[in-house]
Amino acid sequence: MVAVLNLMVFWGIFFLLPELFVQGDQYELKRKQMVKQQIEARGVSDQLVLDAMRSVPRHLFVAAGYEDFAYLDRPLPIGYGQTISQPYIVAYMTELIRPEPSFKVLEIGTGSGYQAAVLAGIVDKVYTIELVDALAKQATGLLEKLNYNNVQVKSGDGYVGWIEHAPYDAIIVTAAADSVPPPLLEQLKIGGRMVIPVKGGHDYQYLQLLEKKENRVVSRNVIPVRFVPFIHKD
Ligand code: SAH
Repeated sequence: MVAVLNLMVFWGIFFLLPELFVQGDQYELKRKQMVKQQIEARGVSDQLVLDAMRSVPRHLFVAAGYEDFAYLDRPLPIGYGQTISQPYIVAYMTELIRPEPSFKVLEIGTGSGYQAAVLAGIVDKVYTIELVDALAKQATGLLEKLNYNNVQVKSGDGYVGWIEHAPYDAIIVTAAADSVPPPLLEQLKIGGRMVIPVKGGHDYQYLQLLEKKENRVVSRNVIPVRFVPFIHKD
C-alpha cells in the first residue's frame, strides 16, 4: 500500500513539474514580448523600468478569467468597476518619475496593486492609497503573498495624501482628477516629480508631469489618456 502511494506521489510530481514550468515559462515569454513589442518599441528605455515590467506577474493582478489577456496591449478589469492600465502606460508613467533605488514614492489609486508592485521592484519604499476598501484589502493580500515587503497599502481618500511618510521623491496618481490636489503637491519633495491624469475633455485626460522647483512648479501635458475617475467629496 505504502509502496503504491509512494509510486503515485513520485509519478504525480514527475507529471506535474513540467506542467508548472510550462505555465511559468508561458507567462514569462509573454512578458518579455510585451516589454519588447509594446514598451521598448514605443520608446521607454529606462532599464530599471523595463526589468520591473519583465518581472511582475501581471496575470495575477487582473480579474479572474482575464489571466490569458494580461499581457495584451490594453487595459483590463480588476473588479469593482475599476481597471488596470495598459502595460505601456504603467511603464511610461513609471519612467516619467525617473525612479531611483533610494526613492520613497506615493501612489494614489492602488487598484489591483500592479503599479505598486512595478514601483516596488525599483524603489526603496512605496506608499499607496485606495478608496475602495475591498480593493485595498485584495491588493494588500496579493502584494504580501508575492513578497513585495516594501509596499504599504492604506484604505482611504488619496486626495489628502499620506502626511506621515511625506515628503515623497515622486507621486503617481492613477485615477483621473479634475485638477491637481494641493495636498499632494505639498507632500512632494523639492526636485520631486509627480504624474497625474488631469481632465482634458469630457472623456479623456492629459497625463501631466509636474516638477516641484524651489519657488514654483513646472508642469506639462505629455500624452492624452483615459483613466477611471478620481473620486473626491469636498
Ligand atoms: N494603479 C492601479 C489601477 C488604478 S485604477 C493598478 O495598478 O491596478 C484607479 C483606482 O483609483 C481605482 O481602484 C479607484 O478606486 C481608485 N480611486 C479613485 N479615487 C480615489 C481616491 N480619491 N483615493 C484613492 N483611490 C482612488
